[in-house]
Amino acid sequence: MFEKILIANRGEIALRVIRACREMGIRSVAVHSTADADAMHVRMADESVCIGPPPGTDSYLSIPAIISACEITGAQAIHPGYGFLSENARFVQIVEDHGLTFIGPSAEHIRMMGDKITAKETMKALGVPCVPGSDGGVPDLETARRVAAEIGYPVIIKATAGGGGRGMKLAKTADELDHAFQTARAEAKSAFGNDEVYIEKYLGKPRHIEIQVFGDGKGHAVHLGERDCSLQRRHQKVLEEAPGPVIDADTRARIGQICAEAVANINYIGAGTIEFLYENGEFYFIEMNTRLQVEHPVTEAIFGVDLVREQIRVAEGQPLSFTQDELQLNGHAIEVRINAERLPNFAPCPGRITAYHAPGGLGVRMDSALYDGYSIPPYYDSLIGKLIVHGRDRGEALARLNRALGELIVDGVETTVPLFRALLCEPDILGGNYDIHWLERWLESGAEL
Ligand code: ADP
Repeated sequence: MFEKILIANRGEIALRVIRACREMGIRSVAVHSTADADAMHVRMADESVCIGPPPGTDSYLSIPAIISACEITGAQAIHPGYGFLSENARFVQIVEDHGLTFIGPSAEHIRMMGDKITAKETMKALGVPCVPGSDGGVPDLETARRVAAEIGYPVIIKATAGGGGRGMKLAKTADELDHAFQTARAEAKSAFGNDEVYIEKYLGKPRHIEIQVFGDGKGHAVHLGERDCSLQRRHQKVLEEAPGPVIDADTRARIGQICAEAVANINYIGAGTIEFLYENGEFYFIEMNTRLQVEHPVTEAIFGVDLVREQIRVAEGQPLSFTQDELQLNGHAIEVRINAERLPNFAPCPGRITAYHAPGGLGVRMDSALYDGYSIPPYYDSLIGKLIVHGRDRGEALARLNRALGELIVDGVETTVPLFRALLCEPDILGGNYDIHWLERWLESGAEL
């Protein structure tokens, strides 16, 4: 059993992990940059270590600094949160070489899923439905033309090393293919140092549905249903809900079982998310995230489980604390991501918080590292809080979200709260009728924010 865990992250997710540690009687170590000396995760942890100057590359991404912090404090394991080093296979290897435990999947699985062509081939072989496309990489224009003609236009060209929505190019017709192929390769080369690309059928109006899976690393795995994360801006999720408004119990059981079996088969350990595009009743795998997701609380709300506690338990070598049959879905949950950004352009808006009040009451959870007088540093992600509501059904969750947004006070900086208040007036949102392009279409159509 771990006695002390170091959290290689900051902000709300560092707090989230500290909370799980405290409930489990495990001591926590926070690491922080000089810009975060006054951050809430530093105050809440049992111990803290300053690991470098503000830029992420010099602190939260500095592997030697983090390993040293473990050695100084005697932490036995590292929880990476999301972002930063959470999907860095080299880091995992180094952690293990130092006799420490990485709370997450193996370096091998992170590498496998980090390369999109390998991920897709692996999933296909495991019986997971994939988007029709090229078999592996497409080396030249001639092959690209042949493959695109076979699968039919429109097609999307994607970088195998891609991530964060970058390195993707759409070709609506054959005329656009040459240009799209060449720019995709050039961009992939400069952004990721790897110009290998592949081709997929472009889906016109899909929803983004992702399945939460959990493995014990010994051939057992369960699924915890889906999250619908279709409301996105520039491929960034802004609102997530579970269960998905268009997924019924049979569909959930079917796709969930396929995903759980796939990860059980490869002896996957810990939390993972298998992401799909969903169109006309069909699922199409796009990628797997080998970490805890920002939006994990909606799943925790409807299943009543603590996913971080579970991550720590399986990393200690313990079995899963629930079976598939014990995981019974209850009600509906919605999360909104509150960013320090100025609308309508979503420009980052760091600054000093002059007043903060978190909403409360039945079915309301606010995951945030804000406090009165805190200064949001300009160096990091603009996410300042996640508001999660849970109700008996979707209608109750929506009403609760509206009520909770009304209670939230964040003074001193601009936030994306007005976006959510406006969305809650939209019949499509209230009815659950949206796809991955809905939000951008709505913003372009001059929504009043
Ligand atoms: P990344 O790792 O960069 O986020 P993904 O493969 O997850 O890349 O794709 C990101 C987003 O790009 C998806 O959520 C979807 O909006 C869009 N996308 C990806 N593949 C397709 C496709 N075949 N058809 C339509 N849209 C796609």
